[in-house]
Amino acid sequence: MSDLAQTLSSSLSTDSSWLERYDRSLIRVFGTPQRVLVRGEGCYVWDTDGNRYLDLLGGIAVNVLGHAHPFLVSALTAQLATLGHVSNFFTTPNQIALAERLLELLDAPPGSAVFFGNSGSEANEAAFKLSRRTGRTGLVAAEGAFHGRTMGALALTHKPAYREPFAPLPGDVVHVPYGDLEALSRAVDSGTAAVFLEPVQGEAGVRLPPPGYLTAARELTRAAGALLVLDEIQSGIGRTGAWFAHQLPAVLGNGEEALVPDVVTLAKGLGGGIPIGALVAFGPANATLLSGGQHGTTFGGNPVATAAGLATLHVIERDGLLANAASTGDHLAAGIESLAEPLILGVRGHGLLRAVQFTEPVAAATARHLLEAGFIVNAVAPDVLRLAPPLILTADQADTFVAALPAALDAATKELQ
Ligand code: PMP
Repeated sequence: MSDLAQTLSSSLSTDSSWLERYDRSLIRVFGTPQRVLVRGEGCYVWDTDGNRYLDLLGGIAVNVLGHAHPFLVSALTAQLATLGHVSNFFTTPNQIALAERLLELLDAPPGSAVFFGNSGSEANEAAFKLSRRTGRTGLVAAEGAFHGRTMGALALTHKPAYREPFAPLPGDVVHVPYGDLEALSRAVDSGTAAVFLEPVQGEAGVRLPPPGYLTAARELTRAAGALLVLDEIQSGIGRTGAWFAHQLPAVLGNGEEALVPDVVTLAKGLGGGIPIGALVAFGPANATLLSGGQHGTTFGGNPVATAAGLATLHVIERDGLLANAASTGDHLAAGIESLAEPLILGVRGHGLLRAVQFTEPVAAATARHLLEAGFIVNAVAPDVLRLAPPLILTADQADTFVAALPAALDAATKELQ
C-alpha cells in the first residue's frame, strides 16, 4: 500500500475492510471491485492480502509497459520534479515532441496535427465536434462499437444499456453492422459528416473486420466527402503487434495499400497508465477544423502526461515490444488452442489483444476462478474472455496462464450444471 493511503487510513488493511469502505464512499457505477490492489511490478500486481496476480488485462489495454516500469517511473518523476503542469496558454517541449512522434508513427501527411485530451472519451468527443465543423451532421458508427461514455462519445457507442438511460443524446448517429460493407455504403450519403470505426472492436469481444473492409470504408467515405475516423484507443500503441491496428496487414487485408484516415483517436496505452488522450487530424483541411478557439481542455497534453507518452513510445521501440507483442501473442493463442478443450471454440485477435471464444457462457465464472488462481483476465461477453496484457509479457508467463486455464474452465463448467 502507498504510504499516503496508509497514513490517511485508520482501519485494517485487508481487502474486505477496504471494500466495505468502498461501498460507503464511492458511487457504484461499476460492480464491486474484484480486489484491492496495492503494488505492481512488470506483469504482476499484488492485493492488500499479499496475493500476487499475473495481469493479463493490463488495466484494460493501458499498462503497455507493465507496472512500475523503471524508465517510465524515472521519466515521470524527473518531469514532475521539474515542471508538472502549465495551462493551455503555454506549451512545453514534451507536448511538441510527442505530437511530432505520433505524426511520424502514423505516417501522417504534412499539415497533419494533434490535439491532446485526457481520455479516450475526450478524444472521440473532440472528433465528434470536429465532424460538426464540416457543415454536415450525419454520423455512422458500428454495431458493437464502444467509443466512450461522455454524451457525444456515448452517442457513437452502440450498447443500448449504456445509451438509453441518457437519452436524448447528441443526434444524427446511425449504427450499422460491423464489417458489413453494403450496410455501410447504404448508410453513408451526402449528409454524412463522418464514419467512426474501431479497426478491431475491443469491447465487443475483439471483433475483426473482414480483410478489405477498412480500405473500402476509406474509399466510400472519400467518395461521399465524409471523414473516416479510426478509434485506435484500444487497438493502438503496439497492442496488435503494429503501432496501430490499421497498419497491420492482417487487419487491413494482405496487399492493401497503406490506409490514410482523416482522424485517429488514441488514449489507453499512450500514457502507459498516466491519463492522456489524443486526436490526430490528417492533412491541413482536417487539422484546421477544430482550430480557432472552438475546443479546449485544461489538462490536455500537460508535461507529465506527454512525458509518459514519450517514455512509453521510446521503450516500445527500444525494447522491440511490437515484435514481442506479435510473437508472445501468437505463442499465447497457440498454447490456448493446443489445450484442445471442447469448451474453447478458438482464439481470435492479433498481438496481445486476444479473445478466447467459448461454446458456453462460462466466461465470467472462468475469470473468477482464474482470479482465485492468480490471473487477471476479463469476461468481455458471457462467452468471451479478453486478454490485453502488458506488451512486455514473456512466453513463460503466458505459459503459466495456459497451464491454469483447464482447471478454471472445469470449475466454471461445474457451476453451469
Ligand atoms: N474507444 C475505445 C475503442 C475504447 O476501448 C474505450 C475504452 N474502453 C474508449 C474509447 C473510451 O476510453 P476512456 O475510457 O479512456 O474514456
